[in-house]
Amino acid sequence: MPKILIVGGGYAGFYTAWKLEKHLRSGEAEVVVVDPLPYMSYLPFLPEVAAGAIEPRHAVVSHRRHLKKTRVINAKVTNIDHASKTATISPEGGESWEYQYDQIVVTAGSVSRTFPIPGIAENAIGMKSIEEAIAVRDTLVRNYERAAALPKDSATRKRLLTTVVVGGGFAGIETIAELRSAATALLQKIPEISFEETQFHLIEAAPRIMPEVSLDTANWVIKEMGRLGAHIHLETQCADATDGIVKTSDGAEYPSDLIIWTAGVMANPKVVNGSDLPREGRGRISTQADLRVIDENGTVIDGAWAAGDVAAVPDLTGGGVGGMCVPNAQHAVRQAKRLAKNLVAVIRGEQTVDYIHKNMGAVAGLGLYKGAFQSNNLAIKGFFAWIAHRGYHGLAMPTWERKWRVIWGWVHNFFLGRDQVQLAASAEPKAFFQEFASRPKPKTED
Ligand SMILES: Cc1cc2nc3c(=O)[nH]c(=O)nc-3n(C[C@H](O)[C@H](O)[C@H](O)COP(=O)(O)OP(=O)(O)OC[C@H]3O[C@@H](n4cnc5c(N)ncnc54)[C@H](O)[C@@H]3O)c2cc1C
Repeated sequence: MPKILIVGGGYAGFYTAWKLEKHLRSGEAEVVVVDPLPYMSYLPFLPEVAAGAIEPRHAVVSHRRHLKKTRVINAKVTNIDHASKTATISPEGGESWEYQYDQIVVTAGSVSRTFPIPGIAENAIGMKSIEEAIAVRDTLVRNYERAAALPKDSATRKRLLTTVVVGGGFAGIETIAELRSAATALLQKIPEISFEETQFHLIEAAPRIMPEVSLDTANWVIKEMGRLGAHIHLETQCADATDGIVKTSDGAEYPSDLIIWTAGVMANPKVVNGSDLPREGRGRISTQADLRVIDENGTVIDGAWAAGDVAAVPDLTGGGVGGMCVPNAQHAVRQAKRLAKNLVAVIRGEQTVDYIHKNMGAVAGLGLYKGAFQSNNLAIKGFFAWIAHRGYHGLAMPTWERKWRVIWGWVHNFFLGRDQVQLAASAEPKAFFQEFASRPKPKTED
């Protein structure tokens, strides 16, 4: 039986395995997914998780529950030697071992792309994983609770009430908008803090935000954000973040305990560089339009496939950037569905079909009851765009079990309000026990 190894169980990896389960006949191939995480994360929900509008667990899809015919291995793939069709699998706390495959599907996604700005690595946090979104939610709430107990003129209080986001793409704008909305709701429970004290700054190097929408829509978002109390600084760079003091190219300084970096992504360098598969100039694995990996001459590498953010897949609609599909979930999901069909076709000696998908547009949630939607020249702003955002993502969440949890969560929040209890102490779960635990008396010398 041929062995299919899927590296990464995120959007593209999860959908590839899910669809292979559907398309493969019984006994036709063995499918293995390797991912250190036991779930696929629905990343478009991260800003709402950070805002307390979605329960973190509801925004992930369990591999073991929903991939019933796939073997799931919770470990990292640390090396791919495709010449010998061998992958090195490294479980946490255990010895690495080798896995021999016939077909490999690389779907290891992307990571935050940063620049060597002093202090960013030490003081900022990304918005690329559910764990980061949880930490942002807890930090925001905890900072406000701490600030409330400090005198009005305290510098620490001002710092705790300042949030800085770097990067004005979709992720950055949704993040600052959702956090602003969450903070405004939080102030109703913390009367010691006035609205004017809370500071939200987004720093963007380009002269505009959200390249996926029209300039008119982007400018409307900036205006709305300003009205709600979040300031967007265009043509401004983050020059330094040492000790959590964000210094910008226009000379401003924002001391902050919550600096969120959302200025771009790059293909997972550990997986790409740890493999002998060909890559293009931007560090992605090159594929042809049917999602098979190709070398620099365009020759197909037998038994190798890639999709999602880690792959450079030609955009046959003529859109994309540099002729390649942009890294987003719209492409990752559809590429995975096409890849699964093509892989089965290759196993059966049939023809593959090229991947082609015309961009459906973009929809952003901008806090409760506000959104922006753009598809070609059609732009919807405000409440109906927010309905479109929730409607689209509620239904796009994979599996009915997960859709149900997310949508019911929204219904609960509508009646009960968002849940803004922070559980930051769970980062050190043994601290309480250890504070009071009896310990053996030190042995005395005779
Ligand atoms: C905040 C935010 C909002 C977004 N909103 C939208 C949106 O509204 N619309 C849209 O279309 N797109 C959106 N995106 C982009 C979209 O989520 C990504 O393009 C999509 O997740 C890419 O899918 P992927 O499978 O390539 O990578 P991922 O979904 O990131 O999956 C990669 C997987 O690989 C695993 N992995 C990593 N290293 C290893 C290893 N060594 N071995 C094994 N496994 C490994 C990871 O654990 C992960 O599970 C958003 C992204 C973010 C961060």
